Amino acid sequence: MTSLQLHNLKKRFGSTEVIRGVDLAIEDGEFVVFVGPSGCGKSTLLRMISGLEDITEGELYIGDRLINDVQAAQRGVAMVFQSYALYPHLTVRQNMGFGLKVRKVPADEAEQRVNEAAASLKLEALLHRYPRELSGGQRQRVAIGRAIVGHPQVFLFDEPLSNLDAELRVHMRAEIAALHKKLGNTMVYVTHDQIEAMTLADKIVVLRDGLIEQVGTPRELYERPGNLFVAQFIGSPR
Ligand code: ADP
Ligand code: MG
Repeated sequence: MTSLQLHNLKKRFGSTEVIRGVDLAIEDGEFVVFVGPSGCGKSTLLRMISGLEDITEGELYIGDRLINDVQAAQRGVAMVFQSYALYPHLTVRQNMGFGLKVRKVPADEAEQRVNEAAASLKLEALLHRYPRELSGGQRQRVAIGRAIVGHPQVFLFDEPLSNLDAELRVHMRAEIAALHKKLGNTMVYVTHDQIEAMTLADKIVVLRDGLIEQVGTPRELYERPGNLFVAQFIGSPR
């Protein structure tokens, strides 16, 4: 089944068109990575999918549901940001459970979901800490945990590892791959890190100036880049 469909999606800020007609189908359970230069529209596209940004033109489907006008909280998606966006005055447990409380999930079920997520992310020992008492990698695990507890159909990641040092990035990359294997969810992941894209993706979408330049498996893009721009971005020997 198709998890996400973007039909001629466009976004204008004032008179500037930053997403200029994007067509894309993402299959259930697929790990799709968006790459492209800074300012090409990666974050805007994710924010349109998540409901943080409205859609100027075109249609967006999640499953078979048109969600152009569906509120963010009702879309079945969860987003993880580069900056973690944790609440500083709440503990790890409270941060992870916050969205569930807002959505009035019963307390015992919420607690169970938080415990499950904490176990899969190895956060059990940190549940009573505050964000300032955590390392960058731990904070990002909490942010991922907060996304998991909502049981979203689709995970959206916007450069989640960019603030981490190189060693931790490699480690977290493996954790995200393991998480995808375990949960089997659809994941849409933005990065400017070529290696992250090549190792995580089932499918890479190369964006340029608000349009899709090429879509393919890492191997297809590496071996048959459509043009020099893609080749340079993927690091093909061409
Ligand atoms: P990326 O994530 O690929 O670096 P963005 O999606 O953040 O790119 O931005 C795409 C373009 O849209 C950029 O030119 C940016 O300046 C512009 N843009 C993003 N958000 C806004 C906004 N709220 N108002 C006006 N322009 C914006
Ligand atoms: Mg961005």
